[in-house]
Amino acid sequence: MNSDAYDAIVIGAGAAGLSAALVLGRARRRVLVLDGGPPRNAAAAHVNGYLGIDGLSPLELLAVGRTQVEKLGVAVREGIASHVEAADGGFAVHVGSDTLRTKHVVVAAGITDSLPGLGGLSEGFGVDIFHCPYCHGYEVAGERLAVVATQPMSGHQVRMVRQWSDDVVFFLNDTIELGAEERRVFAARGVEVVDGPVNEIVRRDGALRGVRAGEAVHEVDAVFVAPTMVLNLDALAGFELEMTDTPMGPVVAADPMGATNVPGLWAAGNVADAGSQVISAAAQGAKVGAMINGTLVEEDWSLASAP
Ligand SMILES: Cc1cc2nc3c(=O)[nH]c(=O)nc-3n(C[C@H](O)[C@H](O)[C@H](O)COP(=O)(O)OP(=O)(O)OC[C@H]3O[C@@H](n4cnc5c(N)ncnc54)[C@H](O)[C@@H]3O)c2cc1C
Repeated sequence: MNSDAYDAIVIGAGAAGLSAALVLGRARRRVLVLDGGPPRNAAAAHVNGYLGIDGLSPLELLAVGRTQVEKLGVAVREGIASHVEAADGGFAVHVGSDTLRTKHVVVAAGITDSLPGLGGLSEGFGVDIFHCPYCHGYEVAGERLAVVATQPMSGHQVRMVRQWSDDVVFFLNDTIELGAEERRVFAARGVEVVDGPVNEIVRRDGALRGVRAGEAVHEVDAVFVAPTMVLNLDALAGFELEMTDTPMGPVVAADPMGATNVPGLWAAGNVADAGSQVISAAAQGAKVGAMINGTLVEEDWSLASAP
């Protein structure tokens, strides 16, 4: 391995990637974090549900984390890892016209949320249109909440959202079919069901007004939808990374410590667990950081014990 090689290159400067870098930096490892752009939750005003943080925005949280790791000597570079390949017993990571060498790679590149092409939806995503009641349910609790079905997972989503309000309307949007017995249960839970397609999320002066289904506009205070989650894994296309199916879609198959089927390639955060909130993504990153350091420590001791 080239002596200029990093101990680890972290792809993604979100909660998972920066947490891996924090542990590695504190273990005095040579680390580079590639910051490819905004995190998944950039549109949201606050990171909710993270113990000890109250009111910090997603970008502020990452800015604090970035400063913290840089103080430890971790390099953070703006740039997208375009391609990763096996090289020289480790990896070569291509960024722009540069090829960087590393012993380990942490894939912490997160998810891109692909929303259905429904007018008014993308404008409000993260503001008054949400996917995760754990992230935003408390802030809209008790209000009139819509769940617009976009995929089979929406059937689960509406059951969850009902916990945050007893005024929930479920738009089937020609996506979910309910039988008579299911309709009876929805009625018993006090959830209104609207049949037929949704045509538009109606906004006025930038604010959500309601959901238009046919001619009728149903006024609501917030909308929940289930986006299609696309993993940001293009740079890893050269590896036969094992994937695992989950109700939210396929994710990288990583063991509880973040190890993938490719030795030296680790996964943390939403790429390995699409349901992770920020705090869990950070925890997964921290675990991966410790595992990489532990692996490098053992390599040094094995070398020392060789006759
Ligand atoms: C609208 C919205 C609101 C949310 N609100 C909350 C909330 O209030 N509380 C909460 O706990 N969770 C919230 N979440 C979930 C939260 O966004 C995720 O849990 C968290 O972002 C996962 O962290 P991560 O590090 O895995 O991914 P990310 O935070 O998405 O970070 C991945 C980073 O990798 C970068 N990247 C991608 N590809 C490359 C590449 N090839 N090279 C270099 N960099 C790359 C991306 O640009 C991104 O910066 C919300 C999600 C959404 C969509």
